[in-house]
Amino acid sequence: MTTVFLTEKQCYACGSKSQYPLVDLTLSIVGPRDLDGRPALIQRSLVYLWIQRCFECGYSAPEISQGTAEEVCFIEKPEYQAQLTCKEYPDTSNSFLCHSMIMEQTGQFADSGWAAVFAAWICDDNGYIQSAVKCREKALELFAKAAEHNQGFGESPAEEQLYLADLHRRCAHFEQASLICQSELQKSHPERIYDLFCLEKHLVDKKDTGCHNDTEIDDLNAFQDLSH
Ligand SMILES: [Zn+2]
Repeated sequence: MTTVFLTEKQCYACGSKSQYPLVDLTLSIVGPRDLDGRPALIQRSLVYLWIQRCFECGYSAPEISQGTAEEVCFIEKPEYQAQLTCKEYPDTSNSFLCHSMIMEQTGQFADSGWAAVFAAWICDDNGYIQSAVKCREKALELFAKAAEHNQGFGESPAEEQLYLADLHRRCAHFEQASLICQSELQKSHPERIYDLFCLEKHLVDKKDTGCHNDTEIDDLNAFQDLSH
């Protein structure tokens, strides 16, 4: 069971103190996951606690009491302050997008890309459909920069390609998603990874932009067994 406590923390950027939820982010994610990595069950809603925002200065980080001088020098910029209150996104998405901007500014493209994906999850939950697409397009751009800079953003190169295919599919970039799946399905992969590419390809072929999770592999396999 996960219990959330409030604890007082001091903002690294401005020094103001406030109460923040204390959650153990080191808990390993178990159980089903969406194809873009979002955990299921209780951990699904804990995503909202993965980011903290200082209500004095707007510094947004997974741990508000930590940072670097380089990171916080960016938060006074107009584009950062505008993102904090951008009406196109739910508040928590804005916090993630602000954190993403800080990470991008400091060349941490893999973390920046994931923060944009997390912003998309919050948009999904709150029915901000077009905004979710914008977050995923931003994530694709950032993961491309991560790859250029040899920064890994997945557990393995194959899983990185799965995330990219899923991000493209969720943005209705079916051609790009299909090309990734076709190329990966010609390589040898562990069975689970191969099955995930099959599932992704199946969804792309149906032009499905919805949220799907890895338990659907079993349904797809059962369906294919029946139809053969
Ligand atoms: Zn602050």
